[in-house]
Amino acid sequence: MMKAMLAAAPGGPDAMVWSDVELGAPGPGEVRIRHRAIGVNFIDVYYRSGLYPWPDKTLIPGAEAAGVITAVGPDVHDVAIGDHVAYVSRLGAYCEERLIDADRCVKIPVNLSDTVVAGSLLKGLTAQYLVTSSYAVQPGDTILVHAAAGGVGLILGQWLKALGAHAIGTAGSPEKIALAEAHGYEHVINYRQDDFVPAVKEITSGRGCAAVYDSVGADTWRGSLQCLKKRGMFVSFGQSSGMIEGFKLSDLAAHGSISANRPVLFDYVEDRAELLSRSADLFSRLVGGEIRITEPDRRPLSEAAEAHALLEGRQTTGSLVLTP
Ligand code: NDP
Repeated sequence: MMKAMLAAAPGGPDAMVWSDVELGAPGPGEVRIRHRAIGVNFIDVYYRSGLYPWPDKTLIPGAEAAGVITAVGPDVHDVAIGDHVAYVSRLGAYCEERLIDADRCVKIPVNLSDTVVAGSLLKGLTAQYLVTSSYAVQPGDTILVHAAAGGVGLILGQWLKALGAHAIGTAGSPEKIALAEAHGYEHVINYRQDDFVPAVKEITSGRGCAAVYDSVGADTWRGSLQCLKKRGMFVSFGQSSGMIEGFKLSDLAAHGSISANRPVLFDYVEDRAELLSRSADLFSRLVGGEIRITEPDRRPLSEAAEAHALLEGRQTTGSLVLTP
């Protein structure tokens, strides 16, 4: 038996209940991990609320965690009992212990803490594929990022700066603006107060941005299209304000032959070799100090509902982790 935050039906944060769950022995290719820190991500909210469909009748949210391997099944070669590992996986991390395919695990470098990795693996891998694969950022590019003071946003700003791009961010309060400015953004616009479209036009002297990374969705996507230069790239990778509705293919022509994509991290790390190479890129930047992660705020796993309420209420900056 182990404890987990389990939901029996979609709903608000209180849908998750501290519950006993059976845990078997690892099967072929599987390991058992005792979690030490579990990252909180907006995708957990999408699943808990029912915005994303549930694969089973009940749901344990949680898409990333770090911990120690306590048992290995047959045919496991890359990792061993006692290894500190982390993983990303759509669901199932809000628990004390779990079984998972060994192929999903990456070893944590000795000089990074489990907490920092639990607070940055999913968000950092997201930033990694966004700047390399969704739109390959070039030195000198001007890029717009919404929710710049969020978990993904703070990593993305530093990554863009490291690539020699000019990052413009949006954020919802003066405190968030100051934080984003300290994490690579050259300009940060308070989009709750000001229309970000004319502000971006002014900053770019009317030229527009090479790409917009938009995770806010409903409230921002129309403006995002207007912030692109001709043949720019609209990357819609989330919808913290609600789903995009009304988007038409002809919008791409109307905004200057722009392109759009709607990527999902898990499609960029499904292959183990790709997971390892993207993780290695992230870890080397974390270890080298090019990307700094401030020690994430921690809460007990049993208080995951409070963590969700803060995230949905726009009360958080950077990462939040749960500790079993
Ligand atoms: P954040 O820490 O960025 O939290 C979300 C932020 O969105 C809030 O802090 C808030 O910042 C902003 N926001 C704007 N409007 C709203 C609203 N109506 N309700 C709530 N928040 C709002 O979360 P994460 O770093 O975990 O994730 C960022 C985004 O990236 C999410 O949309 C997530 O789904 C997406 N994502 C997508 C992935 C993919 O592969 N497609 C992978 C990982 C994350 P402010 O107050 O500054 O407006």
